[in-house]
Amino acid sequence: MRDTDLFQLALGLTSPWRVMRAEFSVDEGRLDLHVDFPAGSRFACAECGGEGCGVHDTKTETWRHLDFFQHRAFLHARTPRVTCPKCGVHKVAVPWARAGSGFTLLFEAYVLALAKAMPIANIAERMGEHDTRLWRIIDYYVWEAVEEQDLSEVRQIAADETSARRGHDYISLFVDMASRKVVYVADGKDSGTVKEFADFLESHGGDREAISDASIDMGAAFEAGIKQNFANAEITFDKFHVIKLANEAVDQVRREEVRNNYEIKGRRYIFLKNVENLTMEEKEALSRLEAQNLDTTQAMQIRMNLQQLFMMGAKTARLFLDRWNAWVQVSDLAPMKRLAKTIMGKAEGILRSIDTGLSNGVLEAINGNVQAAKRKAKGYRTKRNLKTIVYLIAGDVLANSTT
Ligand SMILES: [Zn+2]
Repeated sequence: MRDTDLFQLALGLTSPWRVMRAEFSVDEGRLDLHVDFPAGSRFACAECGGEGCGVHDTKTETWRHLDFFQHRAFLHARTPRVTCPKCGVHKVAVPWARAGSGFTLLFEAYVLALAKAMPIANIAERMGEHDTRLWRIIDYYVWEAVEEQDLSEVRQIAADETSARRGHDYISLFVDMASRKVVYVADGKDSGTVKEFADFLESHGGDREAISDASIDMGAAFEAGIKQNFANAEITFDKFHVIKLANEAVDQVRREEVRNNYEIKGRRYIFLKNVENLTMEEKEALSRLEAQNLDTTQAMQIRMNLQQLFMMGAKTARLFLDRWNAWVQVSDLAPMKRLAKTIMGKAEGILRSIDTGLSNGVLEAINGNVQAAKRKAKGYRTKRNLKTIVYLIAGDVLANSTT
C-alpha cells in the first residue's frame, strides 16, 4: 500500500477524488496532501443535486486538516465549477469540507469538541490558528443547530438570569425541563425575554398553549412574562430562590446587629451555611453567639425552619408554612417579617414546587458551568460569543450536526 492510499482511506475520499501526492516537510513540521480528480470526471450540481455535470473550470483551494501527529496537515485540491443544464455554472460541494470553510469537517468537529471543555483562545494557541477563525466555526455550527431545534415536545420550562459581564448586564436562559438543556438564550432579564422565548418556541414547532409549568425566581419580571405569554402555565417558585431570599434577609439582620456586637464581625458564613457544614471552630463560635440570643441566630433559625418546608409532603407543607409565618410575625426582626410577607404572597407557587418536584437545580448547575467557562475565558468579546458558548455547553444543539 502506498502512503497516498493510506491517506485516501484516512480521509474517507470517494471517487473521483484521490490523494495524488503527500509531502512531509520535517523542517516546517507540516504535511501537505494534494487531492485531485482524473480528467473527464463528472460531478453533481451543488444546487439541484443533478448528477453528471461536466467541469467548467477549477480553482485551487487549501483546507487545514487534523494534525498528523506533530505535523500540521493541509489538504489542497482544485475545486471544480460545473455546468449544470438546469442551474448554470456552480462550484461543486467537496465531501471533506463545508462551502466557504478553510477547514476540513474533521478539523471543525475536533475544534467543537475542544470548545466544550476549554476557552477558544487556548484552542487557538494550541493549534496555531487565530481565534477569530475558530470562533467562526463554532458560531456557524452552534447557531445553525439552534435554528434547527425541534421544540414541539416542550411542556415544562424553567428560566433564570445569569450575568453577562461585570455590572448589570444579563442574559436569560430558558430550559426544557424534560431534556434539561438550554433551548433559548435572551438578552437582558426583563419580562420581554419571556415573550422572545415564546415566539422562538412557536417558530420552532412548539406551542405556547402547551406549556404546563414554568419554574422561575420570585422577581416580578419573569412572573409577569410567564402570565402574559404562557396562559396555561402554572408557576412554580423555585426553592433555590426561596432560600437565596431567606439568606439575604438573614444577612440584613446580621448587618444591622453587627454594628452593636463585635463578636459577629467576620462571622458572616456561619449564618449562611447549614450547621452540619461548619467546622468545629465555627460550631463553637456559633454556640457562643447562640447563648447571647442574638437577632442573627433567631433569623438563622427562621431560615433553617423554612428550609425544612422542602422536605415535607405538600399537605403538611401548607400547614407548616402558615405556622412558620405566624412565628415570624411575632418576632422582632423586620427583614424576616418582610421575607415572610413575600413568601406568603407567593405561597401557592412555592408549594407547587413541592407537588411538581420542579426546581431550578439544573439551571443553578448550568449557571455555574457558564460562569466557570466565562472566568476561564476571561470574558467574551461580544454577548453573542457568550450566548454561543451557553448553547454549546448547556444546550443540546450539537447532537445532530457534527456527529
Ligand atoms: Zn443544478
